[in-house]
Amino acid sequence: MTIPLLDLQKQYNSIKKEIDAAIKNVLSSGQYIMGPEVKYFEQEVAQFVGCKYAISCANGTDALVLALHALGIGKDDEVITTPFTFFATAEAISRVGAIPVFVDVRKDTYNIDSSKIENKITSKTKAIIPVHIFGQPAEMDSIVAIAEKYDLYIVEDACQAIGARYKGQRVGSIGDIACFSFFPTKNLGAFGDGGIITTNNERLNKIVRALRMHGSGNAGKNAFDIMNGIQEESQEIETRETIYNPTKYYNYLIGYNSRLDEIQAAILRVKLKYLEQWNAMRRQHAIYYNEKLKNTSLILPEVLTDADSVYHLYILQTDRRDEIVSYLKQKGISAGIYYPVPLHLQKAYEHLGYSKGDLLVAEYLSKRTFALPLYPELTKEEQDYIVGVIYEFEKLNTKHNSQCTL
Ligand SMILES: *Cc1c(COP(=O)(O)O)cnc(C)c1O
Repeated sequence: MTIPLLDLQKQYNSIKKEIDAAIKNVLSSGQYIMGPEVKYFEQEVAQFVGCKYAISCANGTDALVLALHALGIGKDDEVITTPFTFFATAEAISRVGAIPVFVDVRKDTYNIDSSKIENKITSKTKAIIPVHIFGQPAEMDSIVAIAEKYDLYIVEDACQAIGARYKGQRVGSIGDIACFSFFPTKNLGAFGDGGIITTNNERLNKIVRALRMHGSGNAGKNAFDIMNGIQEESQEIETRETIYNPTKYYNYLIGYNSRLDEIQAAILRVKLKYLEQWNAMRRQHAIYYNEKLKNTSLILPEVLTDADSVYHLYILQTDRRDEIVSYLKQKGISAGIYYPVPLHLQKAYEHLGYSKGDLLVAEYLSKRTFALPLYPELTKEEQDYIVGVIYEFEKLNTKHNSQCTL
């Protein structure tokens, strides 16, 4: 049996008619940038997340850059984040000229260890970026308390966690501003790149809206006014902003070209309707794996009682990670390694001066964690086959010492 880590064709085939119709509709509309699909998608995401505003952009990395820029974070500012995440989290901090400050993670949830944040706060610290890694919310209560105590912004990196809840509240509605990615492999994936920013803050909404489109037109003027305390409101013209809007070539801020395509928005609107169902299926599959694997030497994912994970990835731990991944591969099963190099040890961050041993938990996990195939369309037969292969591996390797110490 061949089982991929993720099967995007299966998902497309299950909703092919709706997707094809949505794409055709955009093709014949003649509006390919900033049309009605983008506008409605933003409203639907805002409603789904439980936020006042949602502003789409070109990808999740840009969402982080736009959010940090809108908060006024830049040169020499420090931003606290986790080293156990996709590179883009830290890259966005560097992109705006600020310095990522890495705080170690928890061994059980893989999220930033909030008890270690205060130690890393300096007079230059401006914000914390908790990442809801692998679909599980970070401990937001303690992070919010720290942010309030030290007057820091919270930018949620919710790229892997759309739909997840923390104490009943959706991620993306807890911090000052939040970022999502629609990279095809994410729980809500486009057929290309895409991203969105959510916030309850009107000022941030206006600034991000302007920045994503060269700081021009009405959006640019609105942002300029709110940043400079000017009262007068010009009306917001979103639709057809880029074609017939006479204010298009008046620029108020230096921004970016970072928009969500109309075609991707139309695709995402179709998929958003299925997201809750898909996330529920992921959860069911995770529970099934947990049940079947509980008597192995593997360390199962742990979910905090306050958190409701959407299992972007199903992550296990073992001290024989590389062997088990290659054994699975031999048997036709794709397993993934997330993440093999913690960010503080990446070549690109050599200049920050971290060394091996600085963030022990992240380094420990980077040698032990791997992901099994998990996607909504995964069948019980496939899961049983994967579980069977893992038992085979365990039988061949009888020594059980996966609980080795740090
Ligand atoms: C995917 C991802 C991003 C970046 O999103 P892109 O759309 O690929 O730019 C940022 N942070 C995390 C945690 C991610 O998983």
